[in-house]
Amino acid sequence: MKIPFLDLGASYRELKPEIDTAVSRVLDSGWYILGPEVDAFEAEWAEYCEANHAVGLANGLDALILALRALDVGPGDEVIVPSNTYIATWMAVSAVGATPVPVEPDPATHNIDPPRIAAAITPQTKVLLPVHLYGQPADLDPILTLARQHGIKVVEDAAQAHGARYKGKRIGAHGDIVCWSFYPGKNLGALGDGGAITTNRPELADKVQVLRNYGSRVKYVNEVQGVNSRLDPIQAAVLRVKLKHLDEWTDRRREIADLYTKGLESSGLILPHVPDWAAPVWHLYVIRSTERDALQQRLAAADIGTLIHYPIPPHMQEAYARLGMAVNDFTLARQMAEEVLSLPIWPQMDAKSINLVTTQLMQGEIS
Ligand SMILES: *Cc1c(COP(=O)(O)O)cnc(C)c1O
Repeated sequence: MKIPFLDLGASYRELKPEIDTAVSRVLDSGWYILGPEVDAFEAEWAEYCEANHAVGLANGLDALILALRALDVGPGDEVIVPSNTYIATWMAVSAVGATPVPVEPDPATHNIDPPRIAAAITPQTKVLLPVHLYGQPADLDPILTLARQHGIKVVEDAAQAHGARYKGKRIGAHGDIVCWSFYPGKNLGALGDGGAITTNRPELADKVQVLRNYGSRVKYVNEVQGVNSRLDPIQAAVLRVKLKHLDEWTDRRREIADLYTKGLESSGLILPHVPDWAAPVWHLYVIRSTERDALQQRLAAADIGTLIHYPIPPHMQEAYARLGMAVNDFTLARQMAEEVLSLPIWPQMDAKSINLVTTQLMQGEIS
């Protein structure tokens, strides 16, 4: 029996009649850019996120870039980012000409560590950019307090955190702007690229809305130099169908995570730690081991797919060689890259598969 890391087609197969109907509705409508499907999804997504506004965009990277542009972040500015994130977080900062300033994680949660943020703030810091990594909210209250004290803004990278809650409230409008990706593998995934921002600040929603469409509010009248980053109405229609099932899929992810946690309790592996104020959505279930590579090979030999999120920290990528950060800097980011392993987790995964993964992990000698 083969257990893939992720079965991307499973949620389409589950909802095929509904999704096909929604896609046909857009094809038949003759309306292929923005329009009623995108408007409807934006309203539904804002409501789901407990935010006042949502703006649909082409992808998650653009959501981050346009959020920073809406806050007038540019050359000379510094943006504090996690040292251990998907590189999109950093690349958005670079794309607007600002400098990413990495801050190390709390190794227990993998999320950016607020006391270390305080030490990294300079007069040039314009934005704090926490990531809700693996679907678990970052500790937002101390981050928001620091931002208020220093008169700087908070942009959240929520690309992995659809539906997660921080102290009971959905991720969606704690910070100034929250950025979403609907890349197919995310917890709410389109059948192609998609993204959005949510916010409670109407002037920022308006700015992003104008920026995504050539800086234009009225056709052929351009207020600012914008970009083309519009959410595709076909993807919006698909997302509207899938959104109705998101909570049920999140519940299923939680059940799988519980089974892993119970099954691996005595394994000697470092298991995910969930603070009591966090309601994660388990985009990924990430374990840690100093024997990670051997573990991954053993699982592969048993036909169990795993992935590493992420194998090379951004500061060690060739793309960031010019920042001149020593490869030996950010020891925690490096350690995480060497030790983390993501186990298969997707809503349609069956009990037998979960059991096979835990059994396989309990069999080997793990130090
Ligand atoms: C997926 C992801 C992004 C980027 O999303 P795209 O839609 O692929 O551009 C940004 N940040 C994080 C943490 C992600 O996981």
